[in-house]
Amino acid sequence: MHFFPGITPEQWQDWRWQRANSLTSLEELQQRLALPADSLAGRQATQQRYPLLVTPYYLSLVESNDCQDPILRQCLPDPAELQDGPGEPDALAEERSSPVPRLVHRYPDRALFITGNYCAVHCRHCMRKRHWGLDMGSPSRSEIKAAAEYMRHQPGLREVLISGGDPLLLPETVLAEIIAEFSAVENIQILRFGSRLPVTLPQRLEPDFCRLLASGKPAWLATHFNHARELTPEAARAADNLLRAGIPVVNQTVLLKGINDTPEALSALLLGLLRLKIKPYYLFHGDPIAGTMHFRTGVEKGLELLDALRGRISGLALPAYAFDLPHGAGKIRLEPDVTLGKNSAGEVIYRNYAGLAVPYF
Ligand code: SF4
Repeated sequence: MHFFPGITPEQWQDWRWQRANSLTSLEELQQRLALPADSLAGRQATQQRYPLLVTPYYLSLVESNDCQDPILRQCLPDPAELQDGPGEPDALAEERSSPVPRLVHRYPDRALFITGNYCAVHCRHCMRKRHWGLDMGSPSRSEIKAAAEYMRHQPGLREVLISGGDPLLLPETVLAEIIAEFSAVENIQILRFGSRLPVTLPQRLEPDFCRLLASGKPAWLATHFNHARELTPEAARAADNLLRAGIPVVNQTVLLKGINDTPEALSALLLGLLRLKIKPYYLFHGDPIAGTMHFRTGVEKGLELLDALRGRISGLALPAYAFDLPHGAGKIRLEPDVTLGKNSAGEVIYRNYAGLAVPYF
């Protein structure tokens, strides 16, 4: 709360207050953070192209007005967003794989339902930045029914990912309708919500709301913590409310240059997630999305990080390192290469976590 003096704890814990008092301009941000004047150049033009939006809660995780702060970098417009090349707005070709409005069907057993483009925070590395500023609105009853009908005629579909934007910002009536309609599709076995609210607006995950999310087919929630400083008591409460409602929580981190691309930053995040009973699921290599290219590392950096953590932190804490192939060709997982060759006895030699070469019969 350090940038928001005079706010009562009740206001702070009220997600509606957080939404109503979200910051949407550099001027408001400047009033709170007093950023160095020479750090503002180019940020206004960026914010016109990619608007700023941040909850007071998420901003309160910033520790100083240093523009390299790992939390601030995730919400502060950066001139690099306009200078980036050669990314594409829709590098994953989601729009080409959409058989009915809002539904993306790429894999045989899973589909993605895009609920809109409302988020609590505009994350500067977002892969759906192309949706910001569009008037997508909430899904209409006919869109929800059309998506359910499509899924009903695809017997191989078992799981639907409900994502956005942030689906958990939908009006509860719309969310309830989506849950009921999709749960009524016989072949759908799992609803998976993709939401960053446990990170950016954890106050929204109240017990009753979590019970609503759990009111249909078995539900999972995939969230998106990128830094250990995001693992607050509020986030822990949100994760606990989800678990108590019967919703397992997994995490998808994006590998971000200068934010979590060191073994220390990554292990603090992954081990912290386990303490909140959130399973680290994916470490995503950044997609080549326009306006986010400056956050990308090389693939070798991700492999190097996994190699550094392998054997040193619990296997439970290790995510799969993955990226999406271009043109909607799907996801692939990468592993550090630990095979060194064969010895004269024909045994394969592996490199263990400590670098020791060990033959295996
Ligand atoms: S919450 Fe997700 S969809 Fe919304 S801006 Fe952040 S990364 Fe993008």
